[in-house]
Amino acid sequence: MSTAELVQIDGLAPITKEDRKKSKIMLLFPPEWVPTAPYLALPSLTAVLREAGHTVIQRDINIGMWDHFFSMEFLIWVKARLGMQLKGLQENEKAGALTEREMNQLAVVEPAYELDVFDLADRAEDAKQIVRGDRFYNAELLEGALNTFRETMAYISSAYYPASLVFYPMESNLGYRPGVSKEVFACLGDEQVNVYRDLCNQLVLPEVSKEQPDVIGISIGTQMQLLAGLTFAKLIKESFPGIHVVVGGNIITRLQEDLVHHERFFTEVFDSAILYEGEHALLWLIEALNGQRLLASVPNLIYRDAAGLHRNPEVYTEKTQSLPLPDFDGMPLDRYFVPELIIPYLATRGCYWGRCTFCDHGQGYFDQYRGMPAQLVVDQIKSLRDKYQCRHFLFSDESYPPALFKKVSQLLVDQDVGIKWTTLIRFEETLQDQAMWDLAAKAGCCTLYYGMESANERVLNLMDKHAKKSVIQRNLQMAAKSGIWNHVMAFYGFPGETFEEA
Ligand code: SF4
Repeated sequence: MSTAELVQIDGLAPITKEDRKKSKIMLLFPPEWVPTAPYLALPSLTAVLREAGHTVIQRDINIGMWDHFFSMEFLIWVKARLGMQLKGLQENEKAGALTEREMNQLAVVEPAYELDVFDLADRAEDAKQIVRGDRFYNAELLEGALNTFRETMAYISSAYYPASLVFYPMESNLGYRPGVSKEVFACLGDEQVNVYRDLCNQLVLPEVSKEQPDVIGISIGTQMQLLAGLTFAKLIKESFPGIHVVVGGNIITRLQEDLVHHERFFTEVFDSAILYEGEHALLWLIEALNGQRLLASVPNLIYRDAAGLHRNPEVYTEKTQSLPLPDFDGMPLDRYFVPELIIPYLATRGCYWGRCTFCDHGQGYFDQYRGMPAQLVVDQIKSLRDKYQCRHFLFSDESYPPALFKKVSQLLVDQDVGIKWTTLIRFEETLQDQAMWDLAAKAGCCTLYYGMESANERVLNLMDKHAKKSVIQRNLQMAAKSGIWNHVMAFYGFPGETFEEA
């Protein structure tokens, strides 16, 4: 079935809260993602499931991992792992049986084992306190903390040779390509490089054993989370075969063709996969697992039964205005690596522009752009501000629409909401009024991230970006004048771009 054969539906007939059988669901957000704020997927799913009366335990294993990596407990464990590896390598060396790879590994493991792990762990623990407290604002101390994180990751990497595990940017490399299914399956079983196996044993399986959920949902939004997410799924299935494991998220949606051609994923790694937006699809899947619907009726779902794999042709896209407020209760809001809590918020689904030829963001959505009225956006922000005592927001929209940008800024000022915020935005002809930029700054806009991509208009037109250089310059100048920090993203090598244009 190609995506062209999918049909959009308006939803399934609801089951009343009283009639609905209740389940216990555990939601997991796997690494690797940034350690600075919770990701919105779990709170969005949690809100819909809790509203329906289910018990939800949400676990951000990503921040759990960073916290664990930079802890005395884990680093001493790494030292013990290094010690075991060193012993085996030295025995082989004595026997004259070292392979070239083992010789290289020995050269990494030996000095790492000599390192004073107590000193490193003390510094790593203190680095966490630095990024979580007022010392964050001292540039020298912050740089020192980040360097300690990098040094610690190099130490951890040595115990997973030849894997390269890094702090920032998220470019850890286990030596397997996440886009090649054969390599993915090999990686899941590789005890030498796959650090996520140990993380699962240390952080995930004890939680599953304690909570005994009926269903576990793993949200895999980016390619960087794929190997960790699938490793968790596989090890959970092996230890708890009675728990239904479902995966979902943007990258799972993009990989749907690969999934349906590899039944092994559904026999060895997870039970089902949810494509596109998952809030109601997950709710209906749980109802189906409780015998209150047919699995074949659940939109966005790929599942397996005795007859084989099925991808249901119906797709449901969320009605953004009737979704409940994201529910962050149970997220470890004091553990992120920032001195002030930052809450992500989404006023739109999809990108209103949706035309840039290089961009694949739209593949994660079936229906393109949907937005919410500005007043509802501001009401929800105020609710989140008050509920979580939070003054910092990350508007994680793909690209903030200019009309909403203006209206939300106006309402934030009029209603004296008192927050600081940042978002991603496109260069726009309609944003060439200094008063509008001043209003955004007054509304708390601190930093804007722009996909500039290229400073050459011919290349921008090739990309279907259609931004004029004069508009780019004016947008940036006006934002800077109003006190907003500008961050532009660009790349070179677009097909058709000449050396001079780059
Ligand atoms: S504006 Fe950004 S999100 Fe939208 S299509 Fe272009 S690159 Fe993609």
